[in-house]
Amino acid sequence: MTTASSTINAGRLNRTLAELGRIGETPGGMMRLAYSPYDLQGREYAMGLMRQAGMEIRVDPAGNVIARKAGTDPNLPAIALGSHTDTVPNGGKYDGALGVLGAIEVAQTLAENGHVLRHPLEIIIFTNEEGTRFHRWLLGSRAMAGLLEPEDYDAVDDEGVSLERRLSDVGGDLSRIDQARRFPGELAAYFELHIEQGPTLHRAGTPLGAVTGITGRYVFKVEVQGTANHAGTTPMPDRHDALAAASHLVLATQRLATDAEICRVATVGNIQVTPNAVNVVPGEVTLGVEFRDVDTNALSAAETTLRRDAAEIADANRVSVNITQVEAARAVPMPARMQGLVAEAADQAGLAWESLPSGAGHDAQAMAAITESGMVFVPSVEGISHSPHEFTPPADCANGAQALLNILLMADARL
Ligand SMILES: [Zn+2]
Repeated sequence: MTTASSTINAGRLNRTLAELGRIGETPGGMMRLAYSPYDLQGREYAMGLMRQAGMEIRVDPAGNVIARKAGTDPNLPAIALGSHTDTVPNGGKYDGALGVLGAIEVAQTLAENGHVLRHPLEIIIFTNEEGTRFHRWLLGSRAMAGLLEPEDYDAVDDEGVSLERRLSDVGGDLSRIDQARRFPGELAAYFELHIEQGPTLHRAGTPLGAVTGITGRYVFKVEVQGTANHAGTTPMPDRHDALAAASHLVLATQRLATDAEICRVATVGNIQVTPNAVNVVPGEVTLGVEFRDVDTNALSAAETTLRRDAAEIADANRVSVNITQVEAARAVPMPARMQGLVAEAADQAGLAWESLPSGAGHDAQAMAAITESGMVFVPSVEGISHSPHEFTPPADCANGAQALLNILLMADARL
């Protein structure tokens, strides 16, 4: 059971959430875009709280804020908690912010109780998680995990400003960004508290979620080649209608996740029709197909079925179909022992929990490349996120921070 000495201060946590939520607030929602003046102001606010919790702060070359408190055993690697404080345009007050401020509340509670962990404790604010800037996301956590790609270095944002400039604005240094990298063994574990951003917990009325893994994503460009011809004079049996064939493909994609249940979700999110004229039999169609699942095998199975269905549809409609994979982000499973800590932490707090996958990406998926990582979810009302209507009730925010504290104490004792 939790004791008085290990209970977070719910009122204070929700006060800091409200205060951070005023930085960059607009009538349309939150506008704390990475590297913007509001982002800097938000980071300064969080750093002030970190100092109050007795932590020492540095900014790494990737612009990540790393607050650290020494542990009693100098030989142990740090346990890290973290998330992000940047938002999407017209975003909400909880995505990312709860993970950072919940972690700070945990550190503050420990400091007030004079509880020094065996492991050093780190709280990390990752830069540009959302990728609104440069359209390259998880920038800070990927830099830390050694997962930067060549295109990251040359990134220029929509205002024509380079990553080099943006990083120096937040205390980073592109020329030394490789030094932001940390290696397996440097951290004992990484834990992230986050709102679910989906409806599962809210609908079930379950206060806590143990994340089983972060969804993988396969994206395909599907090109359907038929023959454009006169819509008035071409008899139906003679047509090679690319759009009619594409329509079957849209429904076949949907069935992969519904009737066949091969992967969790499957979407055709865009379509281009050529020549796109009402009096012409469509000659060419391009579809964007996306699959997501926490099991990479499920993604591969969905791909196999899509290719088989596409071949049949092509035959039946006298067109040809070409499928090219354009993105393959593998699923990132959370280790069973990390999921177990989340479940145990919920039990200690007397709170119901359930296991669920994360349909959105998070810094934890990058960190998982260098250390065992775990995530705890709290409900998002109606599953709304990346919106000014994003909301998690104060009691749920507090439950999440309490779970994070319980997890940390167990991890500190066992790892
Ligand atoms: Zn987030």
